[in-house]
Amino acid sequence: MRREVASVVVSCIFSSEDCPWKGEVRHFEAHTVGCDFQKVKCVHPECGKFVKRISLSYHVESECKFRLVACELCQSQVVFRKLQMHVSREHQAVYEEIGSCNDHSHGQPSNAPITERDGDDNMESSLINF
Ligand SMILES: [Zn+2]
Ligand SMILES: [Zn+2]
Ligand SMILES: [Zn+2]
Repeated sequence: MRREVASVVVSCIFSSEDCPWKGEVRHFEAHTVGCDFQKVKCVHPECGKFVKRISLSYHVESECKFRLVACELCQSQVVFRKLQMHVSREHQAVYEEIGSCNDHSHGQPSNAPITERDGDDNMESSLINF
């Protein structure tokens, strides 16, 4: 009986990432290409984080700071990282106080300047304005 070299059992190169796979060398390449424990880049280019393929969907849906979430006040899709800013700017409310806002008018331009400053010689006098 003759034992082939190809039947040597190896473990996955991502075993350090908790992959439990062990198999014959001839299956090795096919496994590592599609291994769930291989790290892949997040689908959001701004994030750029590498996560295991097995946890990518979790990352994208509940962890990524660049995932889209629905604003509770206007139901629009907002990047999670900017949600707090969106709520305070669009709804004039702080995030913790959601629910106390009853003036939810929409249609306001979102890029309206918050501060109106002329920028000339107003800076000195604004200190003693009142
Ligand atoms: Zn593996
Ligand atoms: Zn991400
Ligand atoms: Zn909103």
